[in-house]
Amino acid sequence: MKREKLVAGIETGIISKQGLIAHGRGEAFDYLIGERTLDSAMKATGAAASLLLAAEKPVISVNGNVAALATKGIIELSELINAPLEVNIFYRTEERMKKIKEMLEKQGAGKVLGDKSDARIPGIEHARSKVDREGIYSADVVLAPLEDGDRCEALIGMGKKVITIDLNPLSRTSKNATVSVVDDVERAIKNIISVIKERKKGKGKGKGKENLAASLENYDNKENLKEAIEEIVSRLKKGSMKMII
Ligand code: ATP
Repeated sequence: MKREKLVAGIETGIISKQGLIAHGRGEAFDYLIGERTLDSAMKATGAAASLLLAAEKPVISVNGNVAALATKGIIELSELINAPLEVNIFYRTEERMKKIKEMLEKQGAGKVLGDKSDARIPGIEHARSKVDREGIYSADVVLAPLEDGDRCEALIGMGKKVITIDLNPLSRTSKNATVSVVDDVERAIKNIISVIKERKKGKGKGKGKENLAASLENYDNKENLKEAIEEIVSRLKKGSMKMII
């Protein structure tokens, strides 16, 4: 089903051909993970929810793959935390930017930014640095699923907290982000939404607004990535034993 969504995204011009290759890398990791949410990813999801709830100005950065795979999820999350969606793509053409924005609006998205491009992320190449001043440029927390390493580093360099969703725990994005959720984008967005809903109902911890630093107490991203890798390795060891015996 995911592959069909991506192929449809190519046909409508929402996804770039390179997006298919990036998806392939993600699929390989999802296979190793067992196509389910790891315990470590659930822990990172809790930290991501805390950051989003503590943010003064959260923004959700959306590329073609994210728009095609998690359409409903990102729109729901955007409403839930009052964070605009901002289209921000690696292989940028104005036509593709417009197509993604129109598709999101047609599916019910309220505020979709990205077409003003009136500010630049310092330290990265021209086209990839284009952002909206009222969006990613001035955000304190950016949820950037399937981000690339350079841009993630540059956003952190601007003093922002960056939450990423990336199936590869070894990517530069995963290593540099403030919180890396090592999970598939659809599953992770769904989980973030349910944790935030629980917190808002007062069932979980962190219901009230905290400051950004406090929201990250008890969370260490490097440790969490190590746990993700350990979970993958232990699953593989168990699996290969079964194959041999
Ligand atoms: P980096 O620049 O961070 O070192 P990279 O060069 O692999 O990593 P890209 O190709 O720009 O980065 O981004 C694709 C990333 O997104 C890959 O790490 C891949 O594992 C991940 N990815 C692809 N599809 C999904 C998905 N459906 N859910 C979560 N992550 C995904």
